[in-house]
Amino acid sequence: MRIVVDRELCQGHGVCVGEAPEVFRVAERRGDYAQVELLVDEPPERLRAAVEAAVRYCPNRALRIVEAPATPARSGGSAPASGTESGPAPRAR
Ligand code: SF4
Repeated sequence: MRIVVDRELCQGHGVCVGEAPEVFRVAERRGDYAQVELLVDEPPERLRAAVEAAVRYCPNRALRIVEAPATPARSGGSAPASGTESGPAPRAR
């Protein structure tokens, strides 16, 4: 999972920090109000419940979770023998 912050919406309430202090912190910004900062962009699954709570309880709905696509298994760098869309056309016999 990856966290996305909408900085136009965040107003630094810090509710997210209360839910998941391992992931969020609120930092003062010079000349402006405080805003959330991510301590980790892609928190581990063990923190999912806390991150979901932060998203749910953010009063400004400034947070969302984006599920990272599954990483395809690597086969040592060799291309598949057949079935690829970009491979050469099979020879006629
Ligand atoms: S993300 Fe939401 S809860 Fe966290 S500081 Fe910003 S507005 Fe507050």
